[in-house]
Amino acid sequence: MTSGQLIVITGPSGVGKGTLVQQLRDRHPELTLSISATTRPPRQGETDGKDYFFLSRQAFENWIEQGELLEWAEYAGNYYGTPRQAVEDKLTQGESVILEIEVVGARKVQESFPQATRIFIAPPSLSILEQRLQQRGKDSSEAIAQRLEHAKTELAAAEEFDHIVVNDDLNRTLEQLETLIPL
Ligand code: 5GP
Repeated sequence: MTSGQLIVITGPSGVGKGTLVQQLRDRHPELTLSISATTRPPRQGETDGKDYFFLSRQAFENWIEQGELLEWAEYAGNYYGTPRQAVEDKLTQGESVILEIEVVGARKVQESFPQATRIFIAPPSLSILEQRLQQRGKDSSEAIAQRLEHAKTELAAAEEFDHIVVNDDLNRTLEQLETLIPL
């Protein structure tokens, strides 16, 4: 059986990665999304095991030590990481798997999966990113400021990835992604 493809979608928080990935999966149900682990508390409406595996810091650090994570990073004061086994099993079964992750972790994927397709989603501008973070209403103003500050470093890393796609129009961006992703 041929192995599935690993697709990494990265870029700053608020750039629209989640919406793009959701739409991609609606259009291509054969694509599987990896469920990440995090120490961030659940937001309203989020379910453990569906949106994330919500872990304590101690449990997350145990997973790191036991080599359970394919990549992990600390972002805005919390850990985020990709459980390795589930991804490897799906790839072996020939399924394509999407990781929707921040930049530091996406960089690390290169080490264990150099054949992954790594796509950086960029905002049209920093001020549009700020507007989007405010409009989605998920984070406090303090968290938004922190995410925006972090975004500047993330944007500087865009060139490291295989492709950069500017998310200015959802449908156009989706079409571009469809040309880049091995479907
Ligand atoms: P949020 O707290 O908004 O759900 O996620 C914050 C950031 O962490 C987003 O940029 C998101 O893509 C990223 N993220 C989610 N899961 C993972 C993961 O497993 N690994 C890494 N490195 N980043 C992740």
